[in-house]
Amino acid sequence: MKEVAVVTGGAGFLGSHLCDKLLENGMKVICMDNLLTGNIENIEHLFGNENFQFIKHDVTNFIHVPGRVDYILHFASPASPIDYLQLPIQTLKVGSLGTHKALGLAKEKKARFLLASTSEVYGDPEIHPQKESYWGNVNPIGPRGVYDEAKRFAEALTMAYHRYHGVQTRIVRIFNTYGPRMRLNDGRALPAFFSQALKGEDITVFGDGSQTRSFTYVSDLIDGIFRLLMSNETEPVNIGNPQEITILDFAKEIIELINTNCKIVFQDLPVDDPKVRQPDISRAKELLSWMPKVDRKIGLKLTLNYFQEKIKNS
Ligand code: UDP
Repeated sequence: MKEVAVVTGGAGFLGSHLCDKLLENGMKVICMDNLLTGNIENIEHLFGNENFQFIKHDVTNFIHVPGRVDYILHFASPASPIDYLQLPIQTLKVGSLGTHKALGLAKEKKARFLLASTSEVYGDPEIHPQKESYWGNVNPIGPRGVYDEAKRFAEALTMAYHRYHGVQTRIVRIFNTYGPRMRLNDGRALPAFFSQALKGEDITVFGDGSQTRSFTYVSDLIDGIFRLLMSNETEPVNIGNPQEITILDFAKEIIELINTNCKIVFQDLPVDDPKVRQPDISRAKELLSWMPKVDRKIGLKLTLNYFQEKIKNS
């Protein structure tokens, strides 16, 4: 009998790659998504697979799954800044009520639960690079607070279910990730820069571009998450590529890759935009023997092919 995994947000960018990974590892996968920011195109290739099932459901409501469930991976949430600014209540609800329902299902089924948390729990960090032991610097009432606090609450609830109900839980703190299946217009830096550069538009850098991020290629992230799921580690683990770059240099890197003469234009920095972000991955290295393998130069080339196709077909 195959093991069964439920992936909430399974039609999203990361959720869909996770569905692929779990199927490749011999599991049956139930993908749950309300398609608010997820896209059925991300999982279309799985519809003929007898081990794959899609259920359109909003996980802020009671989740019913008949039969065996071994793993629940809770990835449902708007995840790009423009999404959670446009969907603030849904973002708070899926992080709180949705996490509660998903944990309730894990308790009922005696399944292992993995929470997709985020580097955003560190807010605008005063410690650099960020270790899991850092408690963060989050503005609870700022526009980004809806995402940050929802994920912080989700972590607290996950630990409470672990400590009080004995649910087997895992928490991954995901840093900026990129790769195929990102939405062209999801507003994040990388899809924005790619689509602007490919369409010959101005590249919009927010602020003076001196803020930093560390970008992880999606296959590395998914590998780290799978290792964490299979480990015994209940405390949060950062998964991200420590290769740090300023946003201005990142924009230049993409312009160079595409070989265009697009102009960089500077726009206002969004409120509470973190000034730096880089994961300390000592725990992932030590506990999961995980290290990112895909260099940004290679990852960006792979992603370019995807965006070129996407723009051609749009
Ligand atoms: N950013 C930018 N231009 C854009 C979109 C984003 O300069 O068109 C900046 C944004 O202000 C942030 C960084 O790029 O400093 C990364 O933003 P993203 O939305 O990708 O994710 P975040 O790390 O802020 O969650």
